[in-house]
Amino acid sequence: MFCTSCGTRLEDTAKFCVSCGKPTTLLGAPVAGAEPNRRLVRIMARKKVAGVCAGFAVYFDMDLTLMRLIWVGLLLIPPHIGLIAYIISWAVLPKDESLGAA
Ligand SMILES: [Zn+2]
Repeated sequence: MFCTSCGTRLEDTAKFCVSCGKPTTLLGAPVAGAEPNRRLVRIMARKKVAGVCAGFAVYFDMDLTLMRLIWVGLLLIPPHIGLIAYIISWAVLPKDESLGAA
């Protein structure tokens, strides 16, 4: 490959240009799967009702039990925003049918 900045010929495995020091596409390219589990999904493998709590718990890196307690609190305490949020999340969030590695 060639440096995109100065055109110097480089080793295919080079991470930096030996001539100008610019990072090559090897380093600059976004790495696929660098941020696993960082999308809001309903996790089927860990669901109690619809997987919404598990999805939010993973997304916010929180304990699943704590997240359920928060949801239950929001469900029971007026104006019951937990109920509305849960139904919306249930309808909107994609399912994650994997076994929930996180
Ligand atoms: Zn260069």
